[in-house]
Amino acid sequence: MQTSKKVAIIFTGGTISMKVDPRIHAAIPALSSEEILGMVTNVENFANIEIINFGNYPSPHITPNMMMDLSKLVKKTISRDDITGVVVTHGTDTLEETAYLLDLTVKSEKPVVVVGAMRNSSELGYDGSSNLSAAICTAISDSSKNKGVLVVMNNEVNAASEVTKTNTLSLDTFKSPEFGPLGIVDNDEILYYRDIISREHINTDNIETKVLLLKSAPGVNSDIINYCIDSEYKGIVIEAMGRGNLPPEMIDGIVRSISKNIPVVLVSRCPTGRVLDTYGYEGGGNHLRKLGVIFGGNLPGQKARIKLMLLLAKTNDMNKIREQFEKDEYKKLN
Ligand code: ASP
Repeated sequence: MQTSKKVAIIFTGGTISMKVDPRIHAAIPALSSEEILGMVTNVENFANIEIINFGNYPSPHITPNMMMDLSKLVKKTISRDDITGVVVTHGTDTLEETAYLLDLTVKSEKPVVVVGAMRNSSELGYDGSSNLSAAICTAISDSSKNKGVLVVMNNEVNAASEVTKTNTLSLDTFKSPEFGPLGIVDNDEILYYRDIISREHINTDNIETKVLLLKSAPGVNSDIINYCIDSEYKGIVIEAMGRGNLPPEMIDGIVRSISKNIPVVLVSRCPTGRVLDTYGYEGGGNHLRKLGVIFGGNLPGQKARIKLMLLLAKTNDMNKIREQFEKDEYKKLN
């Protein structure tokens, strides 16, 4: 079968490119992109593949600056007339952050699909080849256009803006806990059940890396926040409790941070649901709102941090940053 569709696969590493090193009995990056692709049988019947090697990194080694380099590479590749879609292979540990950054920075109607594997190639039931073939089918499907960056694992298609890694081990670890998947991969066909809830674009090639992600817990105080202010951090994301509430001991640090024009973005440490100014006690959401804390909706902390890093690369204007995070509520508040 002849095909005119061309998919560029950008290989970055992760378990999909790993095998067990017998000397240490542990998985390490080892497979070449040709070896990975060689396991995807009959791929030539579906698409012409162009291999682009970005690197062979475990995903905890991927930095925000590397994500930005990848974003520029994806932009350049997807803009080519001969390319139908782009697939990015990636370690699953930080896959959601890279996918979300690509979703925010790459503006194209063509599909960009991020994929990984949960089992390395030395394990029984390596899922790299089936995930990669599903990602390629997603990238060549007309119905995948204009959906933002997609994450394909275990025959499910999720929006990068909604998906998160939910389990340390299982093959169906990538879930959109708030809204469910966009669709499924049924053999080589992509069936979409719904559209994405919202799409956002941040027009930048830069990223501000000095942004802290801090999780609240009983008795946590302002020590780390003060350390960040003194170390010239540019932004702080706090995973608050429940609806968006913090221990009162964190208030001093937050007030000091905002007074120095260092934005504090609040999200919840709960896996689903948005933060809101429901509670009026000291440290409650209502108090935090009055202090100038920015409400990050239902983003998980790791994604709110990516968004803040991109926004801070464009502006230090706290109101503009607030507007980007609180879009739906902003008009109501001002
Ligand atoms: N630790 C691996 C990584 O993120 C996990 C994986 O790829 O599934 O690189």
